[in-house]
Amino acid sequence: MRANPNIIITGTPGVGKTTHAEALAERTGLKHVSVNQVVKDKGCHEGWDDEFLSWIVDEDKLLDALEEENIKAGGFIIDWHGCEIFPESWIDLVVVLRVDSSTLYDRLTARKYPEAKLQENLDSEIMEVLLQEARDSYEERIVVELESNTTEEMESNVDRIEAWFKQWKEDHPVVGGDGEGGGH
Ligand code: ADP
Repeated sequence: MRANPNIIITGTPGVGKTTHAEALAERTGLKHVSVNQVVKDKGCHEGWDDEFLSWIVDEDKLLDALEEENIKAGGFIIDWHGCEIFPESWIDLVVVLRVDSSTLYDRLTARKYPEAKLQENLDSEIMEVLLQEARDSYEERIVVELESNTTEEMESNVDRIEAWFKQWKEDHPVVGGDGEGGGH
Protein backbone atom coordinates (compact mmCIF):
# COMPACT_ATOMS: atom_id res chain seq x y z
CA MET A 1 0.00 0.00 0.00
CA ARG A 2 1.34 3.39 -1.06
CA ALA A 3 0.28 6.76 0.37
CA ASN A 4 1.16 8.34 -2.98
CA PRO A 5 1.18 6.90 -6.49
CA ASN A 6 4.10 6.44 -8.85
CA ILE A 7 3.70 7.82 -12.36
CA ILE A 8 5.95 7.05 -15.33
CA ILE A 9 6.25 9.72 -18.00
CA THR A 10 7.81 8.09 -21.03
CA GLY A 11 8.29 8.65 -24.76
CA THR A 12 10.97 9.32 -27.36
CA PRO A 13 13.56 11.96 -26.43
CA GLY A 14 12.14 15.43 -27.19
CA VAL A 15 8.44 14.60 -26.67
CA GLY A 16 8.27 16.72 -23.51
CA LYS A 17 8.83 14.33 -20.60
CA THR A 18 10.94 16.70 -18.51
CA THR A 19 8.63 19.65 -19.11
CA HIS A 20 5.55 17.62 -18.13
CA ALA A 21 7.26 16.00 -15.12
CA GLU A 22 8.42 19.34 -13.71
CA ALA A 23 5.01 20.96 -14.11
CA LEU A 24 3.33 17.95 -12.52
CA ALA A 25 5.77 17.82 -9.62
CA GLU A 26 4.92 21.42 -8.84
CA ARG A 27 1.18 20.77 -8.96
CA THR A 28 1.09 17.48 -7.07
CA GLY A 29 4.07 17.56 -4.70
CA LEU A 30 5.29 14.27 -6.20
CA LYS A 31 9.05 14.08 -6.72
CA HIS A 32 10.44 14.28 -10.25
CA VAL A 33 13.06 11.59 -10.87
CA SER A 34 15.05 12.16 -14.03
CA VAL A 35 16.34 8.65 -14.68
CA ASN A 36 19.07 9.98 -17.01
CA GLN A 37 20.34 12.01 -14.07
CA VAL A 38 20.37 8.93 -11.81
CA VAL A 39 22.28 6.98 -14.50
CA LYS A 40 24.86 9.76 -14.62
CA ASP A 41 25.09 10.59 -10.90
CA LYS A 42 25.18 7.00 -9.65
CA GLY A 43 27.33 5.66 -12.49
CA CYS A 44 24.71 3.14 -13.69
CA HIS A 45 26.40 2.72 -17.05
CA GLU A 46 29.15 0.92 -18.94
CA GLY A 47 30.59 4.05 -20.50
CA TRP A 48 29.74 6.69 -23.05
CA ASP A 49 28.57 6.00 -26.61
CA ASP A 50 30.36 8.49 -28.85
CA GLU A 51 28.09 7.95 -31.83
CA PHE A 52 24.83 8.37 -29.94
CA LEU A 53 26.19 10.78 -27.35
CA SER A 54 24.54 8.92 -24.50
CA TRP A 55 25.43 6.61 -21.63
CA ILE A 56 25.31 2.86 -22.21
CA VAL A 57 22.94 2.03 -19.36
CA ASP A 58 23.59 -0.83 -16.95
CA GLU A 59 19.99 -1.74 -16.14
CA ASP A 60 20.83 -3.88 -13.09
CA LYS A 61 22.79 -1.05 -11.50
CA LEU A 62 20.03 1.40 -12.39
CA LEU A 63 17.37 -0.74 -10.76
CA ASP A 64 19.54 -1.10 -7.64
CA ALA A 65 19.97 2.69 -7.49
CA LEU A 66 16.20 3.19 -7.79
CA GLU A 67 15.61 0.58 -5.07
CA GLU A 68 17.93 2.59 -2.83
CA GLU A 69 15.75 5.66 -3.44
CA ASN A 70 12.82 3.53 -2.22
CA ILE A 71 10.81 4.37 -5.33
CA LYS A 72 8.38 1.55 -4.64
CA ALA A 73 7.14 3.41 -1.53
CA GLY A 74 5.41 5.86 -3.89
CA GLY A 75 5.40 9.60 -4.52
CA PHE A 76 7.53 9.75 -7.67
CA ILE A 77 7.23 10.92 -11.26
CA ILE A 78 9.68 8.76 -13.19
CA ASP A 79 10.91 10.43 -16.36
CA TRP A 80 12.69 8.21 -18.87
CA HIS A 81 12.71 7.06 -22.51
CA GLY A 82 11.93 3.54 -21.40
CA CYS A 83 9.63 1.86 -18.92
CA GLU A 84 9.94 -1.91 -19.11
CA ILE A 85 12.63 -2.19 -16.42
CA PHE A 86 10.39 -0.89 -13.61
CA PRO A 87 8.52 -3.69 -11.80
CA GLU A 88 4.78 -3.59 -12.48
CA SER A 89 4.10 -3.56 -8.74
CA TRP A 90 5.82 -0.15 -8.40
CA ILE A 91 3.71 1.68 -10.97
CA ASP A 92 0.21 3.19 -10.88
CA LEU A 93 0.08 5.16 -14.15
CA VAL A 94 2.14 5.16 -17.35
CA VAL A 95 1.87 8.25 -19.55
CA VAL A 96 3.28 7.87 -23.06
CA LEU A 97 3.79 11.26 -24.70
CA ARG A 98 3.55 11.43 -28.49
CA VAL A 99 4.55 14.03 -31.00
CA ASP A 100 4.32 14.62 -34.77
CA SER A 101 7.47 13.82 -36.75
CA SER A 102 8.00 17.36 -38.00
CA THR A 103 7.75 18.78 -34.47
CA LEU A 104 10.11 16.13 -33.13
CA TYR A 105 12.54 16.82 -35.96
CA ASP A 106 12.61 20.52 -35.02
CA ARG A 107 13.06 19.81 -31.30
CA LEU A 108 15.89 17.31 -31.80
CA THR A 109 17.62 19.50 -34.38
CA ALA A 110 17.51 22.33 -31.84
CA ARG A 111 19.33 19.97 -29.46
CA LYS A 112 21.98 19.42 -32.13
CA TYR A 113 21.51 15.64 -32.16
CA PRO A 114 23.96 13.86 -34.49
CA GLU A 115 22.36 12.48 -37.66
CA ALA A 116 22.29 8.80 -36.55
CA LYS A 117 20.68 9.64 -33.23
CA LEU A 118 18.18 12.00 -34.81
CA GLN A 119 17.12 9.39 -37.34
CA GLU A 120 16.89 6.62 -34.75
CA ASN A 121 14.62 8.69 -32.55
CA LEU A 122 12.40 9.84 -35.44
CA ASP A 123 12.01 6.19 -36.52
CA SER A 124 11.28 5.15 -32.94
CA GLU A 125 8.50 7.73 -32.65
CA ILE A 126 6.95 6.77 -36.00
CA MET A 127 7.10 3.06 -35.09
CA GLU A 128 5.50 3.77 -31.69
CA VAL A 129 8.31 1.88 -29.95
CA LEU A 130 7.75 3.39 -26.49
CA LEU A 131 3.98 3.04 -26.70
CA GLN A 132 4.37 -0.63 -27.55
CA GLU A 133 6.89 -1.11 -24.73
CA ALA A 134 4.41 0.43 -22.26
CA ARG A 135 1.55 -1.74 -23.54
CA ASP A 136 3.72 -4.86 -23.37
CA SER A 137 4.90 -4.09 -19.83
CA TYR A 138 1.80 -2.85 -17.99
CA GLU A 139 -1.92 -3.49 -17.78
CA GLU A 140 -3.81 -1.69 -20.53
CA ARG A 141 -5.94 0.27 -18.06
CA ILE A 142 -2.95 2.11 -16.57
CA VAL A 143 -1.33 3.13 -19.90
CA VAL A 144 -2.38 6.51 -21.32
CA GLU A 145 -1.19 7.97 -24.64
CA LEU A 146 -1.18 11.80 -24.81
CA GLU A 147 -0.23 14.24 -27.59
CA SER A 148 2.48 16.81 -26.79
CA ASN A 149 2.83 19.03 -29.85
CA THR A 150 1.70 22.34 -28.40
CA THR A 151 1.71 24.26 -25.14
CA GLU A 152 -2.09 23.94 -25.01
CA GLU A 153 -1.79 20.16 -25.26
CA MET A 154 0.82 20.15 -22.52
CA GLU A 155 -1.39 22.20 -20.21
CA SER A 156 -4.34 19.96 -20.85
CA ASN A 157 -2.18 16.87 -20.24
CA VAL A 158 -0.92 18.24 -16.93
CA ASP A 159 -4.50 19.11 -15.87
CA ARG A 160 -5.61 15.63 -16.76
CA ILE A 161 -2.82 13.87 -14.88
CA GLU A 162 -3.34 16.13 -11.86
CA ALA A 163 -7.05 15.19 -11.88
CA TRP A 164 -6.03 11.51 -12.04
CA PHE A 165 -3.69 12.08 -9.05
CA LYS A 166 -6.46 13.70 -6.98
CA GLN A 167 -8.81 10.84 -7.76
CA TRP A 168 -6.11 8.32 -6.82
CA LYS A 169 -5.66 10.07 -3.46
CA GLU A 170 -9.42 9.95 -2.84
CA ASP A 171 -9.49 6.27 -3.70
CA HIS A 172 -6.50 5.48 -1.44
CA PRO A 173 -7.17 7.28 1.85
CA VAL A 174 -4.36 7.15 4.38
CA VAL A 175 -5.43 4.96 7.28
CA GLY A 176 -5.27 6.93 10.52
CA GLY A 177 -4.76 10.20 8.61
CA ASP A 178 -1.23 10.64 9.95
CA GLY A 179 0.41 10.46 6.56
CA GLU A 180 2.15 7.22 7.43
CA GLY A 181 -0.58 4.79 6.53
CA GLY A 182 0.20 2.99 9.75
CA GLY A 183 -3.23 1.51 10.51
CA HIS A 184 -3.94 2.66 14.06
P1 ADP B 1 12.13 15.16 -23.14
O1 ADP B 1 12.33 15.28 -21.64
O2 ADP B 1 11.06 14.19 -23.52
O3 ADP B 1 13.39 14.92 -23.89
P2 ADP B 1 11.67 18.03 -23.00
O4 ADP B 1 10.67 18.20 -21.91
O5 ADP B 1 13.10 18.32 -22.67
O6 ADP B 1 11.55 16.58 -23.65
O7 ADP B 1 11.17 18.93 -24.21
C1 ADP B 1 11.96 19.11 -25.40
C2 ADP B 1 11.72 20.52 -25.95
O8 ADP B 1 10.40 20.60 -26.46
C3 ADP B 1 11.84 21.61 -24.90
O9 ADP B 1 12.40 22.73 -25.52
C4 ADP B 1 10.40 21.89 -24.49
O10 ADP B 1 10.22 23.20 -24.08
C5 ADP B 1 9.65 21.61 -25.79
N1 ADP B 1 8.30 21.05 -25.54
C6 ADP B 1 8.03 19.90 -24.89
N2 ADP B 1 6.71 19.64 -24.89
C7 ADP B 1 6.12 20.66 -25.56
C8 ADP B 1 4.77 20.97 -25.90
N3 ADP B 1 3.75 20.16 -25.56
N4 ADP B 1 4.53 22.11 -26.58
C9 ADP B 1 5.55 22.92 -26.94
N5 ADP B 1 6.86 22.68 -26.66
C10 ADP B 1 7.15 21.56 -25.97
